[in-house]
Amino acid sequence: LEAKEEFSHKTRAMDVMRPRKSDPALTVITQDTMTVEDVEAIVSSTTYSGYPVVVSRASQRLVGFVLRRDLIISIENARKKQDGIVSTSVICFTDYCPPLPPSSPSVLKLRSILDLSPFTVTDETPMEIVVDIFRKLGLRQCLVTHNGKLLGIITKKDVLKHIAQMANQDPESILFN
Ligand code: ADP
Repeated sequence: LEAKEEFSHKTRAMDVMRPRKSDPALTVITQDTMTVEDVEAIVSSTTYSGYPVVVSRASQRLVGFVLRRDLIISIENARKKQDGIVSTSVICFTDYCPPLPPSSPSVLKLRSILDLSPFTVTDETPMEIVVDIFRKLGLRQCLVTHNGKLLGIITKKDVLKHIAQMANQDPESILFN
């Protein structure tokens, strides 16, 4: 292959990330507008290991990443031990939580379980580099962005599947990896 042609055939992060074009949108949590029951519904209707937290669905600006198990434990504990935490309590992942009307239930602050700097790559990043980053940093997942907006996620398993696929399609690539 010509070097140029080879480059144009390179797999990029956008080719491996989820969701795929036909899939439902990425499951995200908003930083300060979802209630305890909203988040419980997300956790019980999906099995993902974690969820990106965004400023708002409309903006898709990434704020951080929260692990499923941390969410489950924190909500369970708060429901049991924290006064005023009910299904309609708003969950807030930010430092400053917007004031709510006095009649609303207590806010559940979950800033402490948010990973504020999850690893991200842009959608154009060649998968070779993504694989290298996963190896070198021992990542479990990596978020994919375009112009600062969240697009998708790549997990360690997605990367392993991609490597297996490449090995099948192109036996010579094994020699270089
Ligand atoms: P694993 O890849 O180890 O099974 P997950 O259960 O977290 O880990 O993810 C399963 C699949 O769903 C992966 O292909 C991943 O890219 C995708 N995925 C992970 N988190 C989300 C999410 N929040 N929204 C949509 N898809 C996700």
